[in-house]
Amino acid sequence: MSETTDPRNVIVIGSGPSGYTAAVYAARAALEPLVFEGSVTAGGALMNTTEVENFPGFRDGIMGPALMDEMRAQAERFGAELISDDIVEVDLTGDIKVVKTATDTYTARSVILATGSGYRKLGLPREEELSGRGVSWCATCDGFFFREQAIAVVGGGDSAIEEATFLTRFGSKVYLIHRRDELRASKIMQERAFADPKLEMVWNSEIAAINGAERLESVTLRDTVTGEERGLDVTGLFIAIGHDPRSELLTGQVDLDDDGYVLVDHPSTATNLPGVFAAGDLVDHHYRQAITAAGTGCAAALDAERFIAALD
Ligand code: FAD
Repeated sequence: MSETTDPRNVIVIGSGPSGYTAAVYAARAALEPLVFEGSVTAGGALMNTTEVENFPGFRDGIMGPALMDEMRAQAERFGAELISDDIVEVDLTGDIKVVKTATDTYTARSVILATGSGYRKLGLPREEELSGRGVSWCATCDGFFFREQAIAVVGGGDSAIEEATFLTRFGSKVYLIHRRDELRASKIMQERAFADPKLEMVWNSEIAAINGAERLESVTLRDTVTGEERGLDVTGLFIAIGHDPRSELLTGQVDLDDDGYVLVDHPSTATNLPGVFAAGDLVDHHYRQAITAAGTGCAAALDAERFIAALD
């Protein structure tokens, strides 16, 4: 176990669009940021996707991992130090913030939290392999790829209905698969869904299998009452069963909302702890886009820069 002596100006925890953007801005402000990228998923959520068509600046689109490589290289170019390790413990309450990996301890005057959130998965074989090849967690991101195709959406809450009604703009048909015979979603959302001629409710059903070699070809549905199985030909499957912020590390440190998202003093990125800022999907229930994560990452670096300037 080793401990660094001089506190850094800024430590960034997370390496998605919010973390790398914070690193670019902090590095260009000569704050020499130290970035913890995580040991497994450095680059964040976009490492698991194929084409990203809605990140401005790439008229022909760009592959998710290529976009993240660019952001990483840009942060490094300006002197950000990157460590591919997980932070396992933090103490952010004092003037000097302490963050720990399994083997080392680091200190800093400010910390930017950018650990993102994870979409809940069905836990079925082929789900990961076909991610970005028909299986998606984001209608805003991927709906456009499914023009005039049959699409299934799984879930029963407001976000599932929102995804399904949005997808009727593109799909020839949208099936909303739900385990029960009624929805959890609000009444107004349900009414909108039931009135949509392209949307078909598939009640008392769950996805038993995701099928396809190179791309999604169909799903197998299981009736939750009779156990009977049947195939449904769809080329798009949108999984809308929720998402969880990666904030386990922060419990008892910064204030979180009831769902575990970090609370910030909008429009700034300041948490309740001086010198601790938060950005990206860790904070954001609503937009959850790469560009919004990058935007708040930028804001967090500017907030940290001003915080440090006021200390000096
Ligand atoms: P993330 O990208 O989730 O990054 C968080 C990072 O923090 C990860 O690298 C993780 O390893 C790291 N981390 C977590 N905990 C720790 C720890 N304890 N120590 C160190 N590091 C840690 N958005 C779009 O705009 N367009 C799209 O086309 C699009 N497609 C998508 C496709 C898929 C399959 C998915 C899952 C998402 C997609 N999104 C898309 C959404 C977009 O990826 C997210 O909104 C964005 O990545 C959020 O950025 P973030 O920086 O907040 O978090």
